[in-house]
Amino acid sequence: MSTTTGQRADPAALLAATPTRMFLGGGWRTSSARRRLAVTDPATGETLTSVEGGTVDDALDALGAADRAQPTWGAVAPRDRADILRRAYELVSARRAGLATLITLEMGKPLREADAEVTYAAGYLRWYAEEAVRINGRYTAGESGAGRILTLGRPVGPCLFVTPWNFPLAMGARKIAPALAAGCTCVVKPASQTPLTMLALAEILAEAGVPDGVVNVVPTSDARGVVGALMADRRLRKLSFTGSTETGQALLRQSAGQVLRVSLELGGNAPFVVFPDADLDAAVDGAVQAKLRNNGEACTSANRFYAHRSVAAAFTEALAARFTALEIGHGLDPGTDVGPLIDDDQLAKVGAHVTDATGRGARVVAGGAAADQPGHFYRPTVLDRVPDDARLVHEEIFGPVAPVLTFDDEEDVIDRINDSPYGLAAYVFTRDLDRALTVAERLETGMVAVNQGLVSNVAAPFGGVKHSGHGREGGPEGIAEYLSTTYVALNAGIRPVRAGGAR
Ligand code: NAP
Repeated sequence: MSTTTGQRADPAALLAATPTRMFLGGGWRTSSARRRLAVTDPATGETLTSVEGGTVDDALDALGAADRAQPTWGAVAPRDRADILRRAYELVSARRAGLATLITLEMGKPLREADAEVTYAAGYLRWYAEEAVRINGRYTAGESGAGRILTLGRPVGPCLFVTPWNFPLAMGARKIAPALAAGCTCVVKPASQTPLTMLALAEILAEAGVPDGVVNVVPTSDARGVVGALMADRRLRKLSFTGSTETGQALLRQSAGQVLRVSLELGGNAPFVVFPDADLDAAVDGAVQAKLRNNGEACTSANRFYAHRSVAAAFTEALAARFTALEIGHGLDPGTDVGPLIDDDQLAKVGAHVTDATGRGARVVAGGAAADQPGHFYRPTVLDRVPDDARLVHEEIFGPVAPVLTFDDEEDVIDRINDSPYGLAAYVFTRDLDRALTVAERLETGMVAVNQGLVSNVAAPFGGVKHSGHGREGGPEGIAEYLSTTYVALNAGIRPVRAGGAR
């Protein structure tokens, strides 16, 4: 991975230097069934390389390694765990060009966004390096005043991380960093479309000093079989999953067998609300960011835009002008603003959403079609006159399409927004602080961004409600997901005194 030439690494040299075997028990392993998994560039459809595809047996070996490493890693001094995470942060930062290029190659996002993902992922390693030494319990008296209550947080135990393709580095780092800080070991199953970045991260973690078996990475073409076998194994203690709501629901059902601790970061349907008193220029900037980050393939992506009737025309026109000026292309080209969608299925899904909406009366103001070029490119699209019953108002689009709806009053828009099974992020633009906070407190979402198009922050609890999942990643809440509380009842301490003074 020392193949950088400035901001971007040479793709051929980078691919030659990136590990393609499974990382298991501290070593690189070939698949027991000699399976390989092709990795393609979504901008060209060309095969970049292939990686070893793990089997159920390989995955169980990985869990065995995590289980054997657990007692020792859980007993490593917090300061030592912190130092290792800090070194990992420094290595990831130093190799940002290679990691960013790898993300762009296998996932498609523009290089500057891949670079931002590296910063974001590294931030979790640094934040949790700092949290590793601040795992606190409490020492208190109970109601009667007799005896003492002592609590301490202990590592949950070996974890399984199942991650999606849209943030190949950050979704892994957001789980691995707090788990390691808490003293947990893990098996990571990265998305089959983007395994390279996670294998590169495994190499860095080992170099940073993470002991053998603490982090294991098993790419596979058999997600259902591998994940199912791991979840049925008594040695596993926790699942943290990021991906679609449908898969999350299936895994939640499976988790009942071993009564696993479960964290789920699932799909979203983020509303973006523009009130009449909003700073319109800021709202348009925020809309471009909230919609087009990651080519629109983010769970926090603004999915439905509600503009007050008095500003809807101006907002839509300005947004359409911005979208029309954007360049689509290969993420490694410096001029590219929007890259390809991940695959043909996603391209077809986005197209079907636009067809459905226009069939119900929506009007195309910008874009409105796939780009006429190889790869899975869809033109940045703005629709207005979108009716409430259009499918894209209720389902995750996961592409660069902004449907604009109008509203007349606050009550009405809150009801329409909350009428959704999803509840991840929301964006609110208004100059009225009281309105911003009132709306934020009434929206059924886990996160609300006020006057900004970005909600993620390593120091904040990321997560949703309803069908968007449960559990939080980031901030002090993130490490709590990897700790279980032990309560020690102590028959000791100063005896209580009655109000009159007698013991
Ligand atoms: P997905 O199809 O659910 O896949 C996610 C992961 O689960 C992949 O590693 C996948 O493996 C694995 N998987 C798929 N089916 C499985 C099964 N039956 N049993 C066990 N594992 C299975 O989701 P995706 O399309 O990759 O990701 C997009 C979704 O993720 C969107 O809905 C997005 O909103 C959500 N997301 C949420 C957050 C958040 O923090 N809330 C963040 C990012 C993305 P394969 O790759 O081998 O299929």
